[in-house]
Amino acid sequence: MLNAIPMTHVRICLAAVSAFALAACHVSAQQAPTSPAPIVLHAARLLDIASGRIVTPGEVLIQGDTIREAGSAVSHPANATVRDLGDTTLMPGMIDAHVHLFLHVGNEANQTVDESVPQRVLIAADAAKHDLLAGFTAERDMGTEGAGCADAAVRDAINSGLIPGPRMRMSCNAIDINGGHEDNSGRNPEQHLLSNADRANSASEVIAVMREQHKQGADFTKIYETGRDHLENGVFTTPYQYTEAELAAAVAEAHRTGSVVAVHATGEPGTGYAAQAGVASIDHAYNLSPETMRLMRDRSIFAVPTFAIGEYFADHVASPHQAEIRHAEEAFHAAQFKKQLAAGVPFAVGSDVGPFPHGTQARELVLMVQNGMTPLQTLQADLLNGAKLLGWADSIGQIKPGYKADIIAVPGNPLQDIHVVTDVRFVMKNGEIFR
Ligand SMILES: [Zn+2]
Repeated sequence: MLNAIPMTHVRICLAAVSAFALAACHVSAQQAPTSPAPIVLHAARLLDIASGRIVTPGEVLIQGDTIREAGSAVSHPANATVRDLGDTTLMPGMIDAHVHLFLHVGNEANQTVDESVPQRVLIAADAAKHDLLAGFTAERDMGTEGAGCADAAVRDAINSGLIPGPRMRMSCNAIDINGGHEDNSGRNPEQHLLSNADRANSASEVIAVMREQHKQGADFTKIYETGRDHLENGVFTTPYQYTEAELAAAVAEAHRTGSVVAVHATGEPGTGYAAQAGVASIDHAYNLSPETMRLMRDRSIFAVPTFAIGEYFADHVASPHQAEIRHAEEAFHAAQFKKQLAAGVPFAVGSDVGPFPHGTQARELVLMVQNGMTPLQTLQADLLNGAKLLGWADSIGQIKPGYKADIIAVPGNPLQDIHVVTDVRFVMKNGEIFR
């Protein structure tokens, strides 16, 4: 399914016995003519996300990994394979700007402690497949949570066609202060438990960690700018972790290598420090001051709300009392989101999937609509802003000539009923059909 190598070459490879013959065979397979027949996708509708219009019917001509034509009628080359997807809407593959491939359902801290990195890599590979088959063709992984830079290997395996998965932007471990948000605090110190993050306690230590992560293949940097949230009697407090100067040093270091910083942050002053420092996104992003919202609007700093994980936790906690607290937090978050929308804060879509099951995170788009966005605003945030945030605005997020052929099909019309994005029927990534 993943390789465009003709079967004859595969058989020759399997017959090869010596290491030299295998190596020679690998080269011949790579150099084999692999120009596939063009594909024409036909469906009842196509979403032109930039204009916000539904085109009827919808057709896309794909050659190799690239979209050549798109509209209501494209040319049908004589050698093209035509795929009729019936009463569906063709739309760009979805983008999840906040995932954790290395996490699965269950206590996060225990996964770092109980599972080896090789085991977690296999779990991440499985997660990547589930996300892709659910229609997510590009993702930003916001920290391996204790698996170091093993995410770079997963990304590279996907890119080489070894395993199925979305296009990935990887951050290695998130960066955190000693005793910070993901430092396995409050447990028996004599056990010397692993942290879920890479620790750094000053600007120079942050830069040193960033350089090591860059060396090991990180695409960007994730920093825990705030600690655990606390909501009591309607008052929301969050401790900040790095000063504005420390974050600014991290952003400058990222820019040195053409990269960006994304932060986990809620409340003040942490979100304000992050906005002033010029991060690319503020994830979770509630309890923002008017000044922080203004800065985010003016500097195009994306808020990534991550509603889906909040809903999942609220529905899966041990006691009614905890559920009550979680639901109060969700209501608080939804009200904050409405304020941010009114203030013109730009949004990308990120679910925080991992602590809840991979492949179910299209629920995030449903919740953004439920909390006040229109379906079109939500889809534009997901596709156009998501592509910008991942640094791929000129190649994904739209069905447009010259763009990568990342295309999915959903039943019904997503501009009328956003729920259809949770029922993806067809998935193509890079011109290859996975579902
Ligand atoms: Zn996260």
